[in-house]
Amino acid sequence: MKLRLFDTYTRSVRDFEPLEDRHVGLYTCGPTVYDYAHIGNLRTFIFEDLLRRTLEFNGYTVTHVMNVTDVGHLVSDADTGEDKMEKSARRTGKTAWEIAEYYTQAFIQDCDRLNIKMPTVLCRATDHIQEQIDFIRCIEEQGYTYSTSDGIYFDTSKLADYGYLARLDIEGLQAGSRIELGEKRHLTDFALWKFSPKDQQRQMEWDSPWGKGFPGWHIECSAMSVKYLGNFFDIHCGGEDHIPVHHTNEIAQTEACYHTHLANFWMHGYFLQIDEAKMAKSSGEFLRVQTLIDRGYDPLAYRFFTFSALYRAKLNFTWEGLDAAAKSFDRLRTMVYQWGEPGIVDEDYIDQFEEQVNDDLNFPRALAVTWELARSSLPDATKKATILVFDQVLGLRLAEWQPQEQVIPDEILELAASRTKMRQEKRWAEADALRDQIIAAGYEIEDTPAGPRIKSL
Ligand code: AMP
Ligand code: ZN
Repeated sequence: MKLRLFDTYTRSVRDFEPLEDRHVGLYTCGPTVYDYAHIGNLRTFIFEDLLRRTLEFNGYTVTHVMNVTDVGHLVSDADTGEDKMEKSARRTGKTAWEIAEYYTQAFIQDCDRLNIKMPTVLCRATDHIQEQIDFIRCIEEQGYTYSTSDGIYFDTSKLADYGYLARLDIEGLQAGSRIELGEKRHLTDFALWKFSPKDQQRQMEWDSPWGKGFPGWHIECSAMSVKYLGNFFDIHCGGEDHIPVHHTNEIAQTEACYHTHLANFWMHGYFLQIDEAKMAKSSGEFLRVQTLIDRGYDPLAYRFFTFSALYRAKLNFTWEGLDAAAKSFDRLRTMVYQWGEPGIVDEDYIDQFEEQVNDDLNFPRALAVTWELARSSLPDATKKATILVFDQVLGLRLAEWQPQEQVIPDEILELAASRTKMRQEKRWAEADALRDQIIAAGYEIEDTPAGPRIKSL
């Protein structure tokens, strides 16, 4: 079955054909590193990882580029307010550079915990200032810019199909808006370069042909994707919130300079929500991978949890939902462990699995095929070999996992030994009292023909 993917640009599921034989250029918008990634952000990065693994499963080599936004993302997407990095620096007393480095490393660690493959190129916006300046000059030479007292702006009215990706109704937007335009000429115009404030020294600022300042948020992705993948590559991804602003503006920039809409496929991951509300980093309160670990979950249980919905549907997070996923995941990996050594794969099941992942990444159904295989009457060695092939895409580290040996503390073992003695002496009430003590300490005791077995509750 051919790989088919939903393309937001054409709003249709299309057969995937790489632009270049057997090779795929993939660009995914990366994290803004002013804070930890929350599990919502990571849902999008898991979706992108599943996409990459599916492409590799189909035999393509993938050049995966991801940016790290470490400058220029302002508190408001409308190019106003403080830079998120500088705000975080002020709050913590660290420099903006230290903040960026710290949260970039934290992001890499979270990806590792979730078995998200590292991109081929992970590139920082601050390492590509010259490329961004060159790109803005190109847009300027094509006549799409104007300057105001606070920066250089893109004049979106000059681009006939501005907003096509999001099917923006520009006139409707303009009519319905009560936002002060200031010196901006149109509501949808956006900053390419912002000047440093006159009365204040920014921690991150650079000289440019237009004056000292810093790049706008959208230009880094246009400049870095062109540098590493060319001006028209295979797939560009991000979260659904990128459709109306960030990706719309990336396309505008690249159209102005290179007359292409940047990527052949545009794909978007839909949001993780908590209590039906968007989980937002800027709201301050959010769940991150460490929160899950602190509550006793394996981060891979969260990865498994995200398979329960299509990437193009919102997913509601609940602790009950995560609990159910964790139990189901444990059941699966215990079975896989008990199957022992792998034998020869079952091609029929591989085909069924491929059919589901190639159908626009239908992971809920791919997981259903996985369970069918697990419960089938095939020999264990066949099941094991086959599921390990699935796991190249699922990324659940099924080959490595082993049940953990439980360490039962000495005092519990002693209580259990006394209880056995009481039972032998038929001193039932005392034996039962000891059993209650064991339960109160968080353990359970089960009498088996081989003797009592102790487990933590
Ligand atoms: P940021 O670090 O804010 O630049 O976001 C990183 C990625 O996470 C982007 O692709 C966003 O679109 C995506 N994202 C933000 N919030 C959520 C959410 N609640 N669920 C899924 N993805 C999200
Ligand atoms: Zn981007």
